[in-house]
Amino acid sequence: MLLGSIEAGGTKFVCAVGNDSYQIIDKIQFKTTTPTETLQKAVDYFKKFADLKAISIASFGPIEIRKHAPKYGYITDTPKKKWQNIDFLGTLKQNFNLPIYWTTDVNGSAYGEYTMAVLFNKQINSLTYYTIGTGVGAGTVINGQFLGDTGHPEVGHIRLKRHPDDLDFPGICPYHGDCLEGLVCGPTFEARTGHKGQDVPLQNHTWDIMAYYVAQAALQTTLGIRPAKIIFGGGVVSEAFLDKVRSQFDKLMNGYIDVGNLNDYITMPSVKENGSATVGNFALALRELNK
Ligand code: ZN
Repeated sequence: MLLGSIEAGGTKFVCAVGNDSYQIIDKIQFKTTTPTETLQKAVDYFKKFADLKAISIASFGPIEIRKHAPKYGYITDTPKKKWQNIDFLGTLKQNFNLPIYWTTDVNGSAYGEYTMAVLFNKQINSLTYYTIGTGVGAGTVINGQFLGDTGHPEVGHIRLKRHPDDLDFPGICPYHGDCLEGLVCGPTFEARTGHKGQDVPLQNHTWDIMAYYVAQAALQTTLGIRPAKIIFGGGVVSEAFLDKVRSQFDKLMNGYIDVGNLNDYITMPSVKENGSATVGNFALALRELNK
């Protein structure tokens, strides 16, 4: 039996086919161009697999996830203008008479990490997965369900206390300026320093400022949701950066709540090379098939 995964990002699409042990059997990736061209490439790819039983899509957003909404399955008001009001799920459904699950990119990743934790009997009932890359977002799984009722959470746009050494930086979110995404997404490195993040050494104070903001996000998540674990993925994140985040988190928490060993509480993804969403999609496709 084969399961399909579409990880739809703003810059690239990763399509994969796997089995019910969540192992990848085949994988392809291509650039996100126009909706028509990109979705056709995804359709053409999956047409090659006659044994495909279900598909799951983890998409960039914002997306409509309310099943009874007229635009269920659409990418809605994304800053990527060409992708506004695109019936992503509908396009797939026109081409495949299969169960198809539809959720956000970060929910897909969160579910992948949750699935791995359950598989390896880590006794975890909940977790929050953040991505810090071109954009910032987070998904939360609690007992196998996603957090979010009237829509998916938009944690990337929460407001934070500004770092005293960063007050002159206006932030780069087109909607809010200095929200979390506007302060810590990958492109903020170039906006602040003129250099890409990968060229800014970890000793540079910009990283401490970033860690201060990311630690606040982890703190808000802890206080608001109390997940068993917070995972950070995406291009900006490294183990060395997370050490800075843990240290700032500890200061901000100031002993109020014991979250256990911080090295286990705030971590990188267990699935390597940004593969969490693919595992999550396989698991969600299987769940949709067995419903
Ligand atoms: Zn914002």
